Amino acid sequence: MRRKELLELFGFECDCPRCAFELDLERGAGEALSKWTGLYSCGCGPLQASQLEALVGEAEGGVRSALRKYRAGRSLTTGEAEELEQWSLWPLVPALTQLAMRLRLDGRFSESADAWRRTERAVCSVVPLSNLHLRTQSELLLTEARRAGSAGVVEALVDRSLSCTAAAYGGGVQVWQLLQGFRMPQATIEVAARLAGSPGAGPMPCPIRHQWLTPSDVDGRRTATLRLWSAAFHCVGDVYLDASAHLLVVKASGTDGQSVTCPFEVDLEHVKTRLSRRRRCLTVTISEHCYGQFH
Ligand SMILES: [Zn+2]
Repeated sequence: MRRKELLELFGFECDCPRCAFELDLERGAGEALSKWTGLYSCGCGPLQASQLEALVGEAEGGVRSALRKYRAGRSLTTGEAEELEQWSLWPLVPALTQLAMRLRLDGRFSESADAWRRTERAVCSVVPLSNLHLRTQSELLLTEARRAGSAGVVEALVDRSLSCTAAAYGGGVQVWQLLQGFRMPQATIEVAARLAGSPGAGPMPCPIRHQWLTPSDVDGRRTATLRLWSAAFHCVGDVYLDASAHLLVVKASGTDGQSVTCPFEVDLEHVKTRLSRRRRCLTVTISEHCYGQFH
């Protein structure tokens, strides 16, 4: 579906891991994906809430059963399985969004929050820290803020919203207020002010977020790619990487730095980095150290 969509819209055949995964998933799925296919990358038109719920539920159920089949023949780590699950739900984001909105309009806040949470996880797996991701987070927070007895959940969501907004657009509660807070109830804004002003105050360090991409094998050697995002990644000179056999440490001024454990022993001669200034994203590629071999 996705490959076809990219070919039709943009005229190229995509070989990325996500397209390859979708193709394999569809091949093995049989009829299980028919509802998912029907909702792929689109909403459902005006429907009654119960019809919308049923449709989205069937599509999610179908894709989960296709995923079980897909997993049966493969050995995946928990992390990989989780990522593939989110990838497979990504095409349902418009329909899930529609459902979450509808449930909220009907005052069903708890179910709406649940749908927003599923949407947010899928969006985060494909376009982390994008406008869409922050918007989905903000909708989830708005929904939870309206639900009775949600104080603890709201506090955790505000904390996450502050750090994601800072990672995407720069730090400080003022930035959060402009982008997210303006839509929030007063009590939620006060939670943000309290969290941002808590111990140690001073300017809030800019967070660095990271994600491993699915590792691969090249000539029998494992390689892995780590992506790190931070609004503090302005130019190559600002970002420092220390690599040791088992740990990558990334630092940039205005951040607290980030340490990431490697999935295998790193060949320190072959660590590659690339910084995208536009996306504020540092990509680090590592390969496995092999004893007694020349490369
Ligand atoms: Zn692709």
